[in-house]
Amino acid sequence: MPALDAYARARLEALERERLLRRPVTTVRQTGTKVVRDGRTLISFSCNDYLGLTHHPKVIEAAKRGLEEQGAGAGASRLVTGNSPNYEVLETRLARFKGTEAACVFGSGYLANLGIIQALVSRRDAVIADKLVHACLLDGARLSGARVFRFSHNDLNVLENILIKNKNKYEKTLILVDGVYSMDGDLAPLPELVSLARAYDAWLLSDDAHGLGVLGRGRGSSYAFDPPAKPDLQMGTLSKALGTYGGYVCASNPVINYLKSAARSLIYSTALPPSVLASALAALDIIEAEPDRVARPVKLARQFTTLLGLPEARSPIVPLILGDAETALAASRELEEEGFLVSAIRPPTVPPNTARLRFTFSAEHEENDIERLASLIRAKGWGNA
Ligand SMILES: *Cc1c(COP(=O)(O)O)cnc(C)c1O
Repeated sequence: MPALDAYARARLEALERERLLRRPVTTVRQTGTKVVRDGRTLISFSCNDYLGLTHHPKVIEAAKRGLEEQGAGAGASRLVTGNSPNYEVLETRLARFKGTEAACVFGSGYLANLGIIQALVSRRDAVIADKLVHACLLDGARLSGARVFRFSHNDLNVLENILIKNKNKYEKTLILVDGVYSMDGDLAPLPELVSLARAYDAWLLSDDAHGLGVLGRGRGSSYAFDPPAKPDLQMGTLSKALGTYGGYVCASNPVINYLKSAARSLIYSTALPPSVLASALAALDIIEAEPDRVARPVKLARQFTTLLGLPEARSPIVPLILGDAETALAASRELEEEGFLVSAIRPPTVPPNTARLRFTFSAEHEENDIERLASLIRAKGWGNA
């Protein structure tokens, strides 16, 4: 058996060879879009703080009040003594906003997906996931022990074939999709997915991490459709457009009540700090009160795709696919030299040979930032631009 350090060293070398070694870089976020790295100020197109709420004075003020009145931490799991009063307020608000009976807040989006999936399906069940769903949905599926099937991205025919082939073979079937695909920025065809799930007696979980606050007047990707789609389970995060931290799922009363007793990531993990819940509530207030702020990230993403002749943005996420990891890393470095922070996304986060620059747009960006960025990319002649 190799010694632990030797094993880790060999793995590091292999990752380095494949250009897949990852190193967090210390970065100070000064505003919604300005960050400081290695002493240089950069305009970030890599944050998921779509509405600039992480630095919004009302959000900060709410957090401060929560901190002063209720302390720095929750002290225990929600099921012990950590269920501070704002949980109920926030869950009621989220359910109302998303048009469901109830909601449950989790420690993070990742923990939400682990908990939801593991509580709802097990070894006698099937999970059918889009090829491009977020890693934490797959981790939840693996943890559940259910048989996992994948269907090609947004391909309803392939999904239906899997449903037909496996009809009656499993006790329950759970379909997993992202409302907005986090590395591609496109949407799941939710109305059709809801119909398919109904027709084959399956349940549908839509991960709306990148929809809440920016699509459907802020209510998320389900509301990007008319009439709105109604997946059985609409999960999301408080850590992107809401600018704070935490995850949630909106569903019917019985489903939410069951999850509160069965989701292990909720039961066996400390509750969120009260200040975080308070800031999430302040963020929701802003989202409900300021439709122009909510509409702006997608508007700016569209300005960018128009300037570069790319397919029209459907969300605040725009990929520019460059191919291999080294090319994407080099492009990211060149943009950094010009004052822009744009992350290179490499496998295994995205499929092999689709390494890319991933741009995210914030309400706090200015039109001329977008113009400068687009003309720089055009001058470099990258990708399909
Ligand atoms: C970010 C993200 C998550 C995880 O949410 P966190 O709150 O950051 O843990 C889950 N799903 C998708 C699609 C995401 O983009």
